[in-house]
Amino acid sequence: MTPDSKLGWQEDEPARSEDKYWNEICRVGRWMYERGLAVAGEGNLSVRLGADRILITPAGACKGMLAPEDLLVIDPEGEVVSGKGQPSSETPMHLLFYRVRPDAHAVCHAHPPTATGFAAAGRALEEAVLPEVIVNLGKIPLAPYGTPGTWEVCAALERLVERHDAILLENHGVVTCGPDLRTAYFRMETVEQFARVMFAAEALGGPHLLPRSEVQKLIEARTRYGVTCPRGNSAELPRTAEAMEDRITFRRQELESFLEEAIRKDRARR
Ligand SMILES: [Zn+2]
Repeated sequence: MTPDSKLGWQEDEPARSEDKYWNEICRVGRWMYERGLAVAGEGNLSVRLGADRILITPAGACKGMLAPEDLLVIDPEGEVVSGKGQPSSETPMHLLFYRVRPDAHAVCHAHPPTATGFAAAGRALEEAVLPEVIVNLGKIPLAPYGTPGTWEVCAALERLVERHDAILLENHGVVTCGPDLRTAYFRMETVEQFARVMFAAEALGGPHLLPRSEVQKLIEARTRYGVTCPRGNSAELPRTAEAMEDRITFRRQELESFLEEAIRKDRARR
């Protein structure tokens, strides 16, 4: 039994037939490409095979055209164990998830256009707007920019990985994790769908945020839906209508005191 082994895998985990993971990565890569979440050679996928092995997509390959023999197995340091060519340039980011989150067995990274648009505008997706998003993801924070493919990305992400299953990467894209690859992928779809809805709502005058009491009901419903959240239900709740009002009141007070000060100085000068 090694609950604290490097990648958090426990030895009493039932043995798995591994072949399916090779096929699953190719299938999910096709979905990602066909749905426009990643184009050309963008994005990368990985699955944790065991305590010291991760299956990952190769660097630069189009995710819509992957074959099982294109995939590589790497160790927790990112060294290639089997497979040809180079593993994804975002390998450090994948390894970070497996190190920090023992519950994560798959990682999905893509550049979905609307969610990436929010990330490029420096906007997180943290408002309490859609019940399904609140139940499944809480809020989707924005990690500060780091050069893609470097440890800078990890430094910017580390604080968020332990508390979130989906994170926007500033001026870059989105990364999600899950107990299996499909869940990680569906979280990616959910983030993009939420970004589209937010974009439409903002064009129509701005979304109506749900109040704290409604958000609380949704959080309590997580048990009913079988949703478990990193760091428990109370961590990292989305921004509610009250929080937004508090913010507006605070800004108004700031503006009022600024104006009063400006008027006072003007009078003193005369
Ligand atoms: Zn990327």
